[in-house]
Amino acid sequence: MWSSARDIAAGDLVIIWQTRELIQPLLITPGKDLNSRFGYYRHADLVGIPYGSKVGSRNGKGFIHVLRPTPELWTMALPHRTQILYLADIAFITSWLDIKRGSSVIEAGTGSGSFSHSVARTIGSVGHLWSYEFHEARANKAREEFSLHGMADIVTLTHRNVCKDGFTVDDTVDAVFLDLPAPWDAIEHAKKALKKTSPARICCFSPCMEQVLRTVSALNDSGFTDITMFETLLRPHEVHQISPQPLTQAVEKLKKLEQKREDKRQHQIARSSKRKRDDLPETDTDNVGGKRLRTQESAEEDVGIRDIPNAVVDPGQSASQPLPIKMPVSKVSPDVRGHTSYLTFARLVPTAPSSVTIQE
Ligand code: SAM
Repeated sequence: MWSSARDIAAGDLVIIWQTRELIQPLLITPGKDLNSRFGYYRHADLVGIPYGSKVGSRNGKGFIHVLRPTPELWTMALPHRTQILYLADIAFITSWLDIKRGSSVIEAGTGSGSFSHSVARTIGSVGHLWSYEFHEARANKAREEFSLHGMADIVTLTHRNVCKDGFTVDDTVDAVFLDLPAPWDAIEHAKKALKKTSPARICCFSPCMEQVLRTVSALNDSGFTDITMFETLLRPHEVHQISPQPLTQAVEKLKKLEQKREDKRQHQIARSSKRKRDDLPETDTDNVGGKRLRTQESAEEDVGIRDIPNAVVDPGQSASQPLPIKMPVSKVSPDVRGHTSYLTFARLVPTAPSSVTIQE
């Protein structure tokens, strides 16, 4: 899809990675400059260097990494024209729709083309993606990007309202993916487009349960089977490099932490019995609107907890032995950060040809 050469050339699309939050696409155009809070860079200076290079700014303000685009990086860097699909959902949908090299797929709507790029790479030049978008300006922009990214032969983009006018192919595709506000209106059309000679699959992406219920009814009415709904939830893992400490030191810290907790418990008991004596209503300065506020104390406790358990070295290691300088540890966040959407999957199983009769 994109250049596979080792070195960057004029006219290449590259991904400029500045920070995890600041990732942008750049078309290398000698004569132009890139200005950012991490300094300024001449496009011409990037020509001829290997993809993946770290480049210092001309005014010493910082550096950038210049990366080869991939569908994953494109999803992180693309200009948003709509809400988009992110990698957790893309991977899940691709897998459950059994999209693979050579598959024929329909998607609607195209939106910002995030899902399209991943599908195009998966199906390769032996597969095909029919993508539909009813917003004309979005359709034109996506078509332009597909062509610039070398996907023009793999993707056919049609500007149309699929709920009203249906798709442009019949009995052709292995999978249909609908990311539309009213997917139920496109399900009969999707059934027409799906292959009838082999098992075919559909997925509808909807943010709320009411949409799921209407979609499930429509899938049932149209004869789809194995209707299953998944919710994707994100639980990030944080990876840190920490300095390990000897067991004795870790035990000391744990003891101090335990003591602090006990002091706090005693303090709370004393405070609540004083309130009872003074006949005051139960109020807690740590509680606002039913939510516990993070006090500095509790924050300190958190730090203590984070520091200790992963940082202990083998008890058999003698104090004189040097400790490893850094070790990687990961901590799973207790909070589920994001509900992305509900994914409703179903299958269309080929019906036996009517001419076949079973003889006893
Ligand atoms: N999956 C896309 C991505 O990953 O970038 C994002 C799709 S966006 C959320 C939904 C798109 O569907 C919008 O661009 C909208 O214009 C388009 N759309 C809504 N109803 C449509 C319809 N009936 N026919 C075709 N496109 C439609």
